[in-house]
Amino acid sequence: MDSGRITAWVCHEIIENMFEWKLDASNEQPGDEWNRVWASMQNRDIPNASSLSLPLDLNLGKALHATISEAPLQYVDYLYLSGEECPLCSVSTTHTDRLPASLNLEFDQIKGKIGMCAWVHRDCFEKLELSEEPAPIPW
Ligand SMILES: [Zn+2]
Repeated sequence: MDSGRITAWVCHEIIENMFEWKLDASNEQPGDEWNRVWASMQNRDIPNASSLSLPLDLNLGKALHATISEAPLQYVDYLYLSGEECPLCSVSTTHTDRLPASLNLEFDQIKGKIGMCAWVHRDCFEKLELSEEPAPIPW
């Protein structure tokens, strides 16, 4: 069995599940505007990726590296935001000052990165250091 291909397939499946892009009936591709807006968002480093509280029940191993960027508010309807819990502090974001965010994660059991979106507390987000890495663009 070719484990490299299996890994890629699993990763693809996860991404399909994590991002539920509600593209309209014309199935239009995200255009330049989409790319430009996402790339302009602040990207921040999460120092202790392994302590993140993530709604993942897949065995991906330990989170090795993670960054988080604010998700553009105008695109919030396109995002699948799972649950109300802030992944940075594990406390509910319901009725708090929160913002939609896109997390980009690397795990030790798979190759490549996984993207997912979640609500985070504005305070938790702003406490993190700005990342040197550019904000990732969900295709
Ligand atoms: Zn929080």
